[in-house]
Amino acid sequence: MTRHFDLAVLGGGSGGIATARRAAQHGAQVALIEAGELGGTCVNVGCVPKKVMWHAADMAHAFEDAAGYGFDLTPPTLDWGRLVERREAYIRRLNGIYASNLDKDGVTVFAARGELLAPGRLQTGEDEITADHVVIATGGLPRWPQLPGCALGTDSDGFFALTDRPDRVAVVGAGYIAVELAGMLAALGSRVSLLIRRDRVLRGFEPMLGDTLLERMQADGVDVVTNTDVEALTEEGESVRARFKQGGEGVYDTLIWAIGRVPNTHGIGLDRVGIEPHSDGTVPVDDYQNTRAAGIYALGDVTGRAELTPVAIAAGRRLSDRLFGGQPDRHLDYANIPTVTFSHPPIGTVGLTEAEARERFDAVRIYDSQFVNLCYGVLDRKPVSRMRLVCAGAEEQVVGVHVIGEGADEMLQGFAVAVRMGATKADFDNTVAIHPTAAEEMVTMT
Ligand SMILES: Cc1cc2nc3c(=O)[nH]c(=O)nc-3n(C[C@H](O)[C@H](O)[C@H](O)COP(=O)(O)OP(=O)(O)OC[C@H]3O[C@@H](n4cnc5c(N)ncnc54)[C@H](O)[C@@H]3O)c2cc1C
Repeated sequence: MTRHFDLAVLGGGSGGIATARRAAQHGAQVALIEAGELGGTCVNVGCVPKKVMWHAADMAHAFEDAAGYGFDLTPPTLDWGRLVERREAYIRRLNGIYASNLDKDGVTVFAARGELLAPGRLQTGEDEITADHVVIATGGLPRWPQLPGCALGTDSDGFFALTDRPDRVAVVGAGYIAVELAGMLAALGSRVSLLIRRDRVLRGFEPMLGDTLLERMQADGVDVVTNTDVEALTEEGESVRARFKQGGEGVYDTLIWAIGRVPNTHGIGLDRVGIEPHSDGTVPVDDYQNTRAAGIYALGDVTGRAELTPVAIAAGRRLSDRLFGGQPDRHLDYANIPTVTFSHPPIGTVGLTEAEARERFDAVRIYDSQFVNLCYGVLDRKPVSRMRLVCAGAEEQVVGVHVIGEGADEMLQGFAVAVRMGATKADFDNTVAIHPTAAEEMVTMT
């Protein structure tokens, strides 16, 4: 049967659902095609389960420090299976909420894989759909290396499928997912090796953040193995042996590839609608999410721009406002997007790094702060937190805020508003501090 809609959205993840619901709220007839669980990567194998595991890891750190606060605890044990069961039950509840919200807004959901047949025509299961507008929001997938035995490893999806805590784990990668997984596993009791190709993590971030993180991870017992490329994996009983190009090897119960993500465009019919992907497979779009095919748009991870849930959501809502809400210029400004890495400790960053600012501005001034969070005052361990403000021009406009340390995750959002509004260092200085907090360092830097 062929059905016609004003809008068809391919992919029911963060971006697709946001686009579909906003369009339906504007009165459009909308079809949403989703092959898997509603909510996509973020809800099922990304932000949400990750944050649950991060909270569990945070509790583990708190148990370690409890004695310093006068608590006598018998060492707590973790029932990993129970944690996973409760996490998955929560995710199933979220899947249900997504389904009922789509239903309330009158979006027609097709629970099957979809593909483009021609501009404005899609196939999903037995159904053919025609639509005036089509949005591609098919997201991304974990990247896998091409090397002998690589399938003996797993990826971030596989991490969330673990039903027992692995004892010895290698996490391969230097991006935010790699450091997050390594930090969580170490806190939850695994012996973790972080295998990185060079000597730094979080490339593209302010270097101070990655350097501080590595210090803190090593202090937490993570074995950081630098300048290491995995060359091959072989089976070793129930375990996996990794051989390194530079010589040496390691044996692990689980090896997790966290070496990036690739756009999920395979077999969706881009060639049939005249869309030529970039060489990395991402779908090219302009500032308004238009692809080069009339009436076909793309957003979220599949476009490779700021691959974050709120970005996909914001781009999708704005697109629907433009197409169906009478707001012809509505589009997402991709500048100054804040982001948090849920490492231990967390990292928050918005705006330009020092190096980026120096490329763009003549006058750049950096303000740095390093301190031990008050929560460690009564403890023996004294890990440092660090902050950096990047200021530009005679007015010292704050064009970058970078912070690593306890509370960075919750602190950043408000500072992102300030950066977006063009706040200057003087505005920061003129704001009365909140004491005693870590955030007060932001407004007291000299
Ligand atoms: C481990 C991990 C942790 C993360 N943590 C964070 C975080 O803390 N904060 C943050 O902001 N972001 C985080 N992200 C990134 C975030 O999950 C993505 O940026 C976000 O999900 C992108 O949304 P999207 O709509 O573009 O794609 P997705 O959410 O991936 O949705 C795409 C959907 O399309 C469906 N699909 C694909 N092809 C087809 C097809 N042919 N037919 C039908 N359906 C199809 C897929 O099944 C999927 O449900 C994390 C990602 C990972 C992997």
